[in-house]
Amino acid sequence: MSEPMRGTANGPARGTANGPARGPAIHASQLGYLCDSRKRIAIEAGRAEGAGGFEIQDLSRIDAQVLEGRESWKTVLRGSLTPHEGPMGAYRVGDFSDLRAPGVYRAVLQGSAAFSYPFVISDGVFSRLPALFLDYVHSRRCGDFEDELRGPCHLDDGRRSDTGEQVDASGGWHDAGDLRKWMATTTLPILSFFELRSRLAFSRYNWRERPHEDDLLAEAAWGLRWILKMQDPGTGMFFEDVGGGGESRRGPASSWWDENHAGCCADNAGNFFSDNRPESGDERLVRVQYNPVAQYVNATILLDAIDNFHAHYPAFSTLCRTAALRCWDFMKGRRRDGFHQWTSVLSWRLLAALRLHAMGVVAESEVAALVSVLLDLQSREGGFWFMDASRTEPYRGIVNSAQPAIALAAFIESDYENPLAAQARDSLEQHWAKCVSPLLATNPFGIMPYGLYTSARTGGDLYHELRLPGTSGLFYRVFMPAAAPGGVNHGLASHWTSWAHALSALARVLERRECRHAAFDQLAWLMGSNPLNASAISGIGFQNVVPYSNFQGPMAGGFCNGPRGRPDDSMEADLDGTIQWSTGEYWMVPLANALLALAGLIPSEVLQSKKLGAAR
Ligand SMILES: [Zn+2]
Repeated sequence: MSEPMRGTANGPARGTANGPARGPAIHASQLGYLCDSRKRIAIEAGRAEGAGGFEIQDLSRIDAQVLEGRESWKTVLRGSLTPHEGPMGAYRVGDFSDLRAPGVYRAVLQGSAAFSYPFVISDGVFSRLPALFLDYVHSRRCGDFEDELRGPCHLDDGRRSDTGEQVDASGGWHDAGDLRKWMATTTLPILSFFELRSRLAFSRYNWRERPHEDDLLAEAAWGLRWILKMQDPGTGMFFEDVGGGGESRRGPASSWWDENHAGCCADNAGNFFSDNRPESGDERLVRVQYNPVAQYVNATILLDAIDNFHAHYPAFSTLCRTAALRCWDFMKGRRRDGFHQWTSVLSWRLLAALRLHAMGVVAESEVAALVSVLLDLQSREGGFWFMDASRTEPYRGIVNSAQPAIALAAFIESDYENPLAAQARDSLEQHWAKCVSPLLATNPFGIMPYGLYTSARTGGDLYHELRLPGTSGLFYRVFMPAAAPGGVNHGLASHWTSWAHALSALARVLERRECRHAAFDQLAWLMGSNPLNASAISGIGFQNVVPYSNFQGPMAGGFCNGPRGRPDDSMEADLDGTIQWSTGEYWMVPLANALLALAGLIPSEVLQSKKLGAAR
């Protein structure tokens, strides 16, 4: 347990389950802000008592030089604090969006010595993240790869779970802080790499992996080769996972699927370094079962690969095209199954169909039918989506959290002239106005609460009543319920980054600047602007969640699960090193979602006038 914070003028320390909260009283993004972004700080009301307002100090301008003691920095902006009351408690919020000059700053309270960590304002403040995340993904390669730190692994993946036959499923990446590989989540970074290329023209060539002339494409190809191996030669279906483990946790309260997330009852049977020798007896299992999300996720990725590789690697491009079409054909026989009543599955199907329509494979009428079904799954009164065609429970997802909005925004962007585009736009407008915007306003950090509920799903957990026009009998939690079925209660970086992605898309299709601001708020929350001053990304910020990465160690750019909830819906994160997978485990999903968001949010080229050192 850490030393209690004593004797600082930064206000009394708050108690948490992990001990007193550490760090400054004023919460702000520990990375920083773009010049024209909305910029806010938050402080618990109890720690702002007596303060007249707040100031922003420019750390490059020293007012008084003190050799032994603190320097005094020049105040460049003064602002007032606005009260905020909600499930997180009483807060004061300050807005300093008017400060646009690039620089290194901090916030302080007037009449109190409370302060924030330093932060940067520059249009390039997020620009190093794509390369950081790319290098992290590279380090998590599974199969025939080694670097200074680690050797090759799992060359003997694996054995089919149905026949026991040895097949070649080596390659890909480890999905998380463990060694398992999942087709519905592990391959998502590829989608984000293509998005970085198309929206930001991001390019780098450090690794020199022939025939690729770009690191993003080299890394994408590494993952794509694994996807191709994971396709059943007999049916065209993609398998579920490699080394996903057994199902010893399956029970009355625990099932394979939970809130659109597969594999929730899988155990650790596949979490070991094997001997790398096929047929020796310790090969991990390739689970051959059907997962509809995995089909559409990987079909979508393969369809994007066609154009990305067409020019310099045409044979590979053709392989990707063939595999995608085989999967789509396989799914034609599954379109009437129960999974195709799920909003998450239909959203991913639409994303694949949009790409196939652009290739002339899927008719416009089929796209229109899919869009219509998705529109019908929205609550007219509440603006939220339903989980499935039964229209009973509001949509929630540990992964794919904002998928209906993401899919419909992609449809609009694919064809603004389509007769249905206006309807889809109206649906997203209703989503924003009736549901998303009010939920963001429930807390001083502007984050999207985890989910809406028709009733308390678990005993002992606090649910907040939602009081909005047009809705009644709805509740919400900021975090997952602590007593979630099957013990699945983990940090929701995957959820907040999915919302950052969706909000960046909503900002474009609805032409709403508030959506763009809200997208950045989701990222700021994960970069330390939260009650515990905890950053969920290794290497970013000053107080990191301790990574759960028990096979390959900590690594800059690793994106942890992040904050999770207690029964009273307050925040918890492992800052002490107790090594909790639930908040500290690295995961590809938040990393991929964050890149998808950033591709739509940050400038492809940063003007010199928006960089540090610019003349003021
Ligand atoms: Zn491996």
